[in-house]
Amino acid sequence: MMAMFAGFGAADAAAPVRMELRKIADNVYLMQHPTGSSNSMFVVTDAGVFVWDGDIRTADQVFAGIRRTTDKKIIYHAISHPAGDHATGGWHFRQDRPIIIGTRTQAKSLAAEELEEFTTRKRSNDALYAPYHNSELVQPDITFDGSLTIRFGGLTFVLTEEGAAHSTSDVSLYIPEKRIFAMGDLFKSEIHTGPGDTAYRTFRAGKPFMEIAEKVMARRLPVETYVPGHGPAHVGRGAADLQELNRYFAAMRDEVSKMIRAGKTEQQVVAEFKMPAPFDKYGQAAGINRFLPLYYRDLKAEGVR
Ligand SMILES: [Zn+2]
Repeated sequence: MMAMFAGFGAADAAAPVRMELRKIADNVYLMQHPTGSSNSMFVVTDAGVFVWDGDIRTADQVFAGIRRTTDKKIIYHAISHPAGDHATGGWHFRQDRPIIIGTRTQAKSLAAEELEEFTTRKRSNDALYAPYHNSELVQPDITFDGSLTIRFGGLTFVLTEEGAAHSTSDVSLYIPEKRIFAMGDLFKSEIHTGPGDTAYRTFRAGKPFMEIAEKVMARRLPVETYVPGHGPAHVGRGAADLQELNRYFAAMRDEVSKMIRAGKTEQQVVAEFKMPAPFDKYGQAAGINRFLPLYYRDLKAEGVR
């Protein structure tokens, strides 16, 4: 029986948080956020460290976690998608001068709307944005389209642009030797998953998430742990996490479709929606109110009457 995770989105940045350093495979460490904001991961090799994702608000702790784990420097830093909570942490790694990798679409976004958001927060006097002061949004050094495989420190790091579901360019990281597959925000564990602001238009009531999860499962990779962008990693649970993700989206679609067929308006759907079990135990339930209008509109567009 899995312990359900209680996340509280509103507390994300205001209170000081302590990222939990968890060993999820030999030389693979997850820096897990305690209340469901973004996770980071790092992999230690003889040739140096590979870092996956970083948030300017917590990546100082990731850097400290790396320093207390190894004397090796960070050589590569890759991001799952261009969003403030995953693609801003590079600033804290600057001492090691890692090579920063992103897709061409991610790089475009980081140089445009993400830079704009970063700059606004940097100039803001809101204490919430204090970590942005005196820092810069670090841009990718290397970009790719589709996929990029790096042989490094005796390991294989396979970066794959899986498509656009949570963001305009969602990338996964597969490390076959470690049986680890990091999903970014294509998979949030025990938390309501949905699109980020930039992907509302292409949400299609969750279909891109389901299609990507199916595509990943169809590869039949010997993965022990699918690493979530938010929420706790279920070490050793394997593809059961992706199956649960698809059951989640199916349940959301079914439930909203039922309400549409019963003649409910968008406002009624938002007001009266009851999350079916077991997903009613997921954290950050408030987030769902942001997604319900999207489900309603997308399902109507699909022809649900
Ligand atoms: Zn995120």
